[in-house]
Amino acid sequence: MITAKGVAPMSRCHNPNRFVDYSVIGMRHGGTNAPRIFPKCMTTLRLPPALRTRLEQWARGGYPHETCGLLLGHVQDQFVEVKEAAIARNLNVERAADRYELDPAAFVAADAQARAAGMDIIGIWHSHPDHPARPSQTDRAAAWTGWSYVILSVSRDGVEDLRSWRLDGDRFVEVEVEAWVA
Ligand SMILES: [Zn+2]
Repeated sequence: MITAKGVAPMSRCHNPNRFVDYSVIGMRHGGTNAPRIFPKCMTTLRLPPALRTRLEQWARGGYPHETCGLLLGHVQDQFVEVKEAAIARNLNVERAADRYELDPAAFVAADAQARAAGMDIIGIWHSHPDHPARPSQTDRAAAWTGWSYVILSVSRDGVEDLRSWRLDGDRFVEVEVEAWVA
């Protein structure tokens, strides 16, 4: 049984609509063509470029199947800082093109790695082959509050998009992804 122990509490934002002060973050990454709007109260995912590259390589390497893994790091105020990433086996062999089921052994290994380094497991990354980097109903059903969910849209041409999401109440909200060098 995997528990959520070690997950740091995050600031909550149950009703982003009551915040009228929105910041527009447009065209941060290649492949996006519309400005994205993030409420001020939201957290930012800080992702070092080297780790982003590694996630993209894993997603590309696994295509046309879904690839998945863990994100390790810290939650600092409104920032979720990714410091390490791991790839895990996708146990869902039958529907590997559009489902992932993270190998529980990967949780155990990542948890040990995180503890040894004074970090926490802060989320999960997975790829969407030939689909947008938006959470599916299945992703929603499996999501845990407080974790970051990074989704990479990947096609035969490579990674098209990378977005991060987290639960706000019972729905997913998109989180800004910041290229970050500690
Ligand atoms: Zn998904």
